[in-house]
Amino acid sequence: MKSQKLVWMKMRMHGCIPIERVILSNASMNESVGILPKKSTPYYASLSGLCEELQRQIEPDDRELFAQPYEMPDPLSENMHTVSPGLVHRYQNRVILKVTDECAVHCRFCFRKALIAEKRGALLESDLLLAAVYIAEHPEIAEVVLTGGDPLMLKDTQLQYVLTVLREKRPDIVFRINTRIPVVLPDRITEKTVKMLAAFSPLWVSIHTNHPGELTAQASGCISLLADNGIPLLSQTVLLKDINDKADTLEQLFSQLIRLRVKPYYLFQLDSASGTSHFRVTIEQGFEIMKELRLRLAGYALPVYALDLPGGGGKVPLTPDRIVGHEEGWIVLKDDAGKEYRYPE
Ligand code: SF4
Repeated sequence: MKSQKLVWMKMRMHGCIPIERVILSNASMNESVGILPKKSTPYYASLSGLCEELQRQIEPDDRELFAQPYEMPDPLSENMHTVSPGLVHRYQNRVILKVTDECAVHCRFCFRKALIAEKRGALLESDLLLAAVYIAEHPEIAEVVLTGGDPLMLKDTQLQYVLTVLREKRPDIVFRINTRIPVVLPDRITEKTVKMLAAFSPLWVSIHTNHPGELTAQASGCISLLADNGIPLLSQTVLLKDINDKADTLEQLFSQLIRLRVKPYYLFQLDSASGTSHFRVTIEQGFEIMKELRLRLAGYALPVYALDLPGGGGKVPLTPDRIVGHEEGWIVLKDDAGKEYRYPE
């Protein structure tokens, strides 16, 4: 009762609406989505004890209990583009397949936090088969992005089975695995894991890393193992307030990635997931950081600064010419077809 009173007091103070209200307005969502339990690995916890920027990524914060009116449990409208359980077909030439909702750590800013809090576990075999049939029937799909959760939370045998089923149906398909495991649980990736993955070439691994403090000797060893076995590597980074919102920090991160043979691929503007506004950096600030990085890094070390347009508009590179106006607290952006979207200023 006392904590409920505290929540209401804070709501009034911040002028926010409580997350539960947002969630209840979406009948398909579980009421508990606002509360993502803390989760870390002993490895990452020991690193975050030494580095505040790492700790902020995994430490629950009261501010998560409040959703701004523009925040949503499913900010990219993945539900709208879901064609079978776990399979999202938004772009013509690729699909994403959520093979598990488990992660080694719970990143407090995650745009899929609602999904992860549901704790459904691995994709059912029947749903994997449905996805494989869909992909087989759509020859325009050239790539399957395995995501989740974190695909490397599956056992090697499970992951091998997923890849085998999909490749059997579509021998020409390219795989991409989105994972945070190399920087939060590097021991999970063994020589055996890497050999298994390499057997499914063309298979790319995209590593989610947000801070140079995550690229320890262990993480670097894991990444080198992947590179040594011929697995092409990309990275994705989320621009996060008080974590990596400085050109110096990102310069260090992207330079280290290049040394590790990882191409910095995306620097994402934060999505509007419920209860994440305290991580938000303004787009203007993002432009300033990119301007500075362009002076300091070689072209191939520079990621694309990108935004997933709210409401399922898809991913677009963020450049000043994308902005068509400002409206009371909103930036108005256009997609490639000229359609307008609003993102909080
Ligand atoms: S590892 Fe990825 S999917 Fe899991 S909580 Fe972090 S950002 Fe979200």
